[in-house]
Amino acid sequence: MIEDNINYEYIIRYLREMTDDKDALLREMRTYAEANEVPVSQRETSAFLQFLCAVKQPKRILEIGTAIGYSAIAMAKNCQAEIVTLERDEAMITTAKDYICRAGLENRITIIEGDATKTLSRVSGEFDLVFIDAAKGQYETFLNQITVSHGGILVCDNVLYKGMTATDELVVRRKITIVKRLREFLKELMNDENYVTSLLPLGDGVALACKKGCDKNE
Ligand code: SAH
Ligand code: MG
Repeated sequence: MIEDNINYEYIIRYLREMTDDKDALLREMRTYAEANEVPVSQRETSAFLQFLCAVKQPKRILEIGTAIGYSAIAMAKNCQAEIVTLERDEAMITTAKDYICRAGLENRITIIEGDATKTLSRVSGEFDLVFIDAAKGQYETFLNQITVSHGGILVCDNVLYKGMTATDELVVRRKITIVKRLREFLKELMNDENYVTSLLPLGDGVALACKKGCDKNE
């Protein structure tokens, strides 16, 4: 029984079957994640991220929430970007470094250790793709600290949070604050005139935003 509360179970099963990792290392990482309860992106979300990297060919990617490096490696394999990824959990960082070395991507993926609400101030420059996939109660704080390039893409994962964001009926007591913050974040993002935004019932819910405007030299 899949309890995502977002799509029909038969659809989720089918999508996950169809988006199974073809890459051996990514497959191994997913098996590790499942055995160790690491919340890596769902297969369909990962397939979508890889599609975005392939079509956008970003030069610089920022990720908030590395976990074991699954999504960072998946993105790196579909473009030539330099990837900066933020993680606060030491055990995750150790495992991620190991996988990144095994993927031969240590020259392109840099992990910044520590709480992203603090380390983001050390991250400079614009990013062509930003993947926010960490503390769901902090998305608004993260949004205010990042710089997305014009025409750049912002992807925020888990915004429907097992359906709780969409209906009070699913909200469990200990998640009330996080759900409230996610709803406020989505409202702010939808009303932000700097972005064209779309909400997708993909995986655990994805907010997809494109920063408007173009560079002066374009
Ligand atoms: N993007 C990964 C999954 C990330 S899971 C993938 O798809 O493969 C979320 C991760 O964010 C966890 O490892 C957690 O430790 C980290 N995290 C949560 N809040 C954070 C914060 N404030 N700063 C840095 N990392 C954070
Ligand atoms: Mg996620």
